[in-house]
Amino acid sequence: MVSVSFPYDAPVSQTLFDRAAIVTPGGVNSPVRAFRAVGGTPRFMVSGSGPYLTDADGREYVDLVCSWGPMILGHAHPEVVEAVQAAVARGTSFGTPGEGEVALAEEIVARVAPVEQVRLVSSGTEATMSAIRLARGFTGRAKVVKFAGCYHGHVDALLAAAGSGLATFALPDTPGVTGAQAGDTIVLPYNDLDAVRAAFAAHPGEIACVITEASPGNMGVVPPLPGFNQGLKDLCAADGALFVSDEVMTGFRTSRAGWFGVDGVVPDLMTFGKVMGGGFPAAAFGGRADVMAHLAPAGPVYQAGTLSGNPVATAAGLAQLRLLDDAAYAAVDAVSREIRELVAGALAKEGVAHRVQTASNMFSVFFTTGEVRNYEDARKQEAFRFNAFFHSMLADGVYLPPSAFESWFVSTAHDERAVERIAAALPAAARAAAEATA
Ligand code: PLP
Repeated sequence: MVSVSFPYDAPVSQTLFDRAAIVTPGGVNSPVRAFRAVGGTPRFMVSGSGPYLTDADGREYVDLVCSWGPMILGHAHPEVVEAVQAAVARGTSFGTPGEGEVALAEEIVARVAPVEQVRLVSSGTEATMSAIRLARGFTGRAKVVKFAGCYHGHVDALLAAAGSGLATFALPDTPGVTGAQAGDTIVLPYNDLDAVRAAFAAHPGEIACVITEASPGNMGVVPPLPGFNQGLKDLCAADGALFVSDEVMTGFRTSRAGWFGVDGVVPDLMTFGKVMGGGFPAAAFGGRADVMAHLAPAGPVYQAGTLSGNPVATAAGLAQLRLLDDAAYAAVDAVSREIRELVAGALAKEGVAHRVQTASNMFSVFFTTGEVRNYEDARKQEAFRFNAFFHSMLADGVYLPPSAFESWFVSTAHDERAVERIAAALPAAARAAAEATA
């Protein structure tokens, strides 16, 4: 439902979108990119530099999506580009082991204490899919607990009540996932330990794992209540289930050691993606060595990938991680705080009911009052106000996630000039949000 009008001011993007729609379903390769929640023409980007993206019509935007998280150093960071160019020149894929994979795995193990061993894959979806298979193989149990509003990629078993694109489109489920594939998935409300307790009581010895976003960002930012993650860990341990923390979004973003570095809860398995790939398709899952030992070829649980540990992707990820020191995280945290305060100030000035929720430097704006603790709360927001806000910001050169149910992302490259441009765009966007009607 779109209640806003938007200027038709992206003719080249529109032409590309028309061409794309002929050869690609919906004109995009990942649904949220199509702008269906907010309406209008998706911008086809041609280049990125620091905190800016430039579209096919030659317009520059301050980017608050950062490729949905990976670009924590901004676009085309010179040292990452240099590492990639050097890797490409050596050859792009060998289908053999290589030193880059070892170095990236060592970097992950060094940063994230619960990860004793790690396996590299190519997408976050693969990471969570494989972690769940491993949890089932290790425990010999079938059932998986997940939380409504948490997105773990498009894994069949995990597409029940998922957030992200599914939250955007309010699809309760998806055709193509059979009852058998989803039948062992138990979906519970987020931040509700009693519900988890009840599930273990109803299915003793049957639950292979509980998987949760370490701090959810796919229903907007909804951090765990104090004690929630530890409670999950304790309930899993008491029943012999594994606790799987999905850090695809938070990993190496919310701190040097991701959300584990924030709350210190020790999972049995963890999944990573986004930041660790430096903008390339690289992801990982890892954790307890005794669990990882069940993975082929060391153990019986099969998992593989032609491009897993790809030398270009690992070079990009390693270069990015090595640049992410304490000063880099302090810079990202600081600019995130500055932007949050500007957004909240502008909305308050126009009397728009809103709530900014944060998970270290990740944040999102809910157009609602009261704390958002779970998916049900998130869905009560006035998303039509976000849509008006979004289009006003876009028209003024600020690129937000095209959905009210996504985290906003910043980078070390978001400097004073970028922040000033955001500040300049906010008053009109806040007014548009105030005036929007359902
Ligand atoms: N897990 C989480 C928490 C995510 O946010 C995502 C993607 O947004 C995924 C898994 C899936 O990752 P990918 O899109 O790389 O398959």
